[in-house]
Amino acid sequence: MRWRRLHNPGLPVSLTLAGLELEAFSISGLATYVLVPALDACFDLGHCGVEAARLDHVFLSHVHQDHAGGVHRHLSLRAMTGARPPRIYCPAESAEALRDLLRAWARLEGKDPAGVGDVVVPVRPGDRLALGRGRTVEAFDVTHRIASRGYTVVERARALLPAWQGRPAAEVSAAVRRGEAVHAEAERRRLTYIGDSTIETLEQRPEVSDCDVLLMEATHLPGTDVATARRYGHTHLDELVALFARAPEALAARQIVLKHFSLKYREDDVARALAALPEGLRERVTMLAP
Ligand SMILES: [Zn+2]
Ligand SMILES: [Zn+2]
Repeated sequence: MRWRRLHNPGLPVSLTLAGLELEAFSISGLATYVLVPALDACFDLGHCGVEAARLDHVFLSHVHQDHAGGVHRHLSLRAMTGARPPRIYCPAESAEALRDLLRAWARLEGKDPAGVGDVVVPVRPGDRLALGRGRTVEAFDVTHRIASRGYTVVERARALLPAWQGRPAAEVSAAVRRGEAVHAEAERRRLTYIGDSTIETLEQRPEVSDCDVLLMEATHLPGTDVATARRYGHTHLDELVALFARAPEALAARQIVLKHFSLKYREDDVARALAALPEGLRERVTMLAP
């Protein structure tokens, strides 16, 4: 095997979807992270590069090492550069163990462990977390082998009322000066992030896919049996295709990013799987593969 063929978590893929710029990498067992600089946030942190360390908010779906292994370096890099401590959101069930780990690492490095765990914010299903600039993150439960949360970023912004959309700016300004109501608060569901998950998450909560960009896993591709995916708490691409056929509303997002492919797949396996997706789904899907 030549070195350049190996998956490299230090080399993310750059994507722009629905106006959002993402820097992302995701291979099962190795590392998953999705950086969204415009939100000052990243989703999962299986590997932490310099760019990730600039982000204040880290939303962990769960604490398997390929999703949470970069947390310690995130804290270290920020401490080195004098940045304020981040907020590490994590399923409430795993919060204390993650704090233990961070304290243990502080001791290993000869640092005072007191307060090190304070960066960890326990997250329960239904929690609404403020992200600043009118943005909220809604947490929901995800089915995996250990406790796992999904996250939807909701933006609140002033938007023109339908009657005023498309009208010249001068007319709108004149109406505002006359004191007429031309704007209303509108909610826009920008992104939903699901880490490792079985198909049950989207089956049971189709509403989370009502957003601009849905990130979901498809660890296994055609050629591997579905039972293997289910045994390890993952999703097979065939299950997503079947879900699209019987409940298209569960895959309603404008853009869908599939990620977390098994280490064993090569680039052409992923390209073939994308080409075989049904119409109506295929043109909205991006496969997160180098
Ligand atoms: Zn994983
Ligand atoms: Zn996992």
